[in-house]
Amino acid sequence: MIDLCQLPERIARYVEPEPFSGCWLWVGSCDSGGYPLTGTGSLIVHRAMYEMYIGGIAEGFDVHHKCRTRICVNPNHLEAISGITDRKLRLIEQTHCKHGHPLEAPNIWFRKNGRRICKACTRALPYYNRRTEEQKRKRRERRHELG
Ligand SMILES: [Zn+2]
Ligand SMILES: [Zn+2]
Repeated sequence: MIDLCQLPERIARYVEPEPFSGCWLWVGSCDSGGYPLTGTGSLIVHRAMYEMYIGGIAEGFDVHHKCRTRICVNPNHLEAISGITDRKLRLIEQTHCKHGHPLEAPNIWFRKNGRRICKACTRALPYYNRRTEEQKRKRRERRHELG
């Protein structure tokens, strides 16, 4: 475990510890994505903290917040994950679609990229209905031709 008093002063003065979650909340500036930046804006703090206290970040790895708090810079709450962005991780961990249907079998289709598609929502899409209507019509016509 890394202790807050081990931090260099230039970082420690922007850190506000959260006693319940153990998060070290960054009260300095943030980038457009809401991630903590140092005063000069040149360094993403949680990545720097990870490199300083845990180890180097291999290429293609992202530093992810286990505590889900973007402005947290506590190295104990960080982990490097290969090729998976926070966004993808959220999609994986999603249990329901944005309309509240469960994202689990039998209500899902898998896309090639691993994304889950909500069947209930897809059926409600106008283009899907149009397509199936069209298919039905074609099938009817074909049957008609065959006599
Ligand atoms: Zn945290
Ligand atoms: Zn849905």
